[in-house]
Amino acid sequence: MNRVSGKFIAKCFYCFFFCLIIISGSVCLQAQGTGKVLILGIDGCRQDALQQANAPNTDQLLTHAVYSFDALTHQPTWSGTGWSSMLTGVWENKHNVYNNSFLSPNYAQYPHFIARAETVNPALHTASVVHWGPINSTINTLCDEEYTYATDLEVTNKAVELLNNTDPDVLFVDFDDVDHAGHLYGFHPSVPEYINSIEVTDAYIGNILTALYNRPSYANENWLVLVSTDHGGTMSGHGGPSLEERNIFVIASNQQFTPRQIAKTPVTQSIPAALLFNGTNQYVTPQNPGNLFEFGSSQDFSVEIKVKYTTLAGDAAFISNKDWDSGANAGFVISTPASDQTKWKVNIADGTNRIDVTGSTINDGNWHHLTATFDRNGLLNIYQDGQLAGQAVMSSVGNINSGLPLTIAQDGTHAYPFWFNGAIAEVRVWNTVLAPETVAAWACATVNNTHPNYANLLAYWQMTEGSGATLADASANAITAVLQGSDPVWNTAAGAQTCYDYSQTPRIVDVACTALTHLGIGFLPEWQLDGHSLTLPLGGPGLSCAGTVQTYIVPPQGNCSYNWTVNGGSILTGQGTNTVTVQWNSPATGEVLLQLE
Ligand SMILES: [Zn+2]
Repeated sequence: MNRVSGKFIAKCFYCFFFCLIIISGSVCLQAQGTGKVLILGIDGCRQDALQQANAPNTDQLLTHAVYSFDALTHQPTWSGTGWSSMLTGVWENKHNVYNNSFLSPNYAQYPHFIARAETVNPALHTASVVHWGPINSTINTLCDEEYTYATDLEVTNKAVELLNNTDPDVLFVDFDDVDHAGHLYGFHPSVPEYINSIEVTDAYIGNILTALYNRPSYANENWLVLVSTDHGGTMSGHGGPSLEERNIFVIASNQQFTPRQIAKTPVTQSIPAALLFNGTNQYVTPQNPGNLFEFGSSQDFSVEIKVKYTTLAGDAAFISNKDWDSGANAGFVISTPASDQTKWKVNIADGTNRIDVTGSTINDGNWHHLTATFDRNGLLNIYQDGQLAGQAVMSSVGNINSGLPLTIAQDGTHAYPFWFNGAIAEVRVWNTVLAPETVAAWACATVNNTHPNYANLLAYWQMTEGSGATLADASANAITAVLQGSDPVWNTAAGAQTCYDYSQTPRIVDVACTALTHLGIGFLPEWQLDGHSLTLPLGGPGLSCAGTVQTYIVPPQGNCSYNWTVNGGSILTGQGTNTVTVQWNSPATGEVLLQLE
């Protein structure tokens, strides 16, 4: 008998899929069993810790899974927000859950995917077994069976019992002990207690998978096992916007899948030269800028700088226009925090009101691209290597004019007692708020006139001169900047910087969409789902034989458009829809490809 291999490749975000179904040989597509979904949710499980842990049961799922350790969720990284996004398939601006107090959730308009599934097909048998109570008491609004327990062990035992003794179509399981360990000991792969809790959870997952595989009807069922988490964390907890908190994993495992990892992609920018600052008396100031860098009380602006250092004394400024002697003084600064020179921060103040936002570790001897965008009646966002690292509301800050010059590697007084000791490679100043996707796209790229905000570029010291003390400004303003203090020292083999592109990796909202699709439930446009299915099952005839006419169908995917390609046959009807009828050649080796956009 000729085998049929189905490969379902979703290479997409924002509604772009590439789905490949190969029909090999002259016969025949074998129908898969009824779609069933098991979701294993591990609260607060960092992807790097999961990879480091000895987790054989999760590892085994990866051998036949579409999966990513570079998936993302949004901030705030609270459980209420994360589970709501994962289970409704829409973001927080729709489900309206921004913390764990569920003040006014909009589950009526954007319900849990189980409620969607039950509404479409009330015959489905659905169950939710949780440790974190609000998932059942608040998020889950329409489900046949709900069980809430005080321990992960009880959760596991109930899930095993349901798989042994009942016939669920959807089983959601929530573990909470990993999050507890993170809060007690730190969310980090270096924390033994945290790793241990992941290993205990993996053993629970093993018990549940054993029960699944031992179901008498398992061979005739078509289970998708989804494993994911509601958020990551740091040594001090979670809730914030850092990449460590937003980075999650998603595993979609099915016995028929060929393994495929969806990874972030590295983007490398060559840095031809960099100016080295001696940490004692060197800084850079623009010559005759006029009032170009005085942003007053309402002018939006953004600042970008590349730095590389290993050790600093005190909270030396990377770039500033204020007297950094007090954080409340008018103006802004990008520096290290006084308490932790391994990280970086941004401060802005008006003489009374101040905002401070801290980023993550950067003193690793690598280049880092730091961005601060100041939306004067909105948010201060800070980005590290193009990825959001911190955020605060900044509307309380008024007039920031300090009367002091914009300065690189010192504060505006040029007399701050701590001096920057390291390399700086590229400085950009904009009179607008750069959008997150723009920051990400250009953090590891040289700006040119294709940049969407090119007209807003106030100054661009590329620092590629490689000699001398004069730095040219590549912006239209042509504000030359000059190194002050000791003679310049250049590094003309400054290396390269690597950023990572996450634009094609999964998002937490994809989990619900993948589950619905596997159940054969298409998305209605009015559901306004924000996620996409990571896999796409091809429905069709029990047999699709050479020389025959066959119809193939995928569950509708909301507002996507469908572009089918058939090799070894021709499309009779249905191009542009989710259902296509194919005349196969005889004899044929065929494939059906579907691209969703
Ligand atoms: Zn927590």
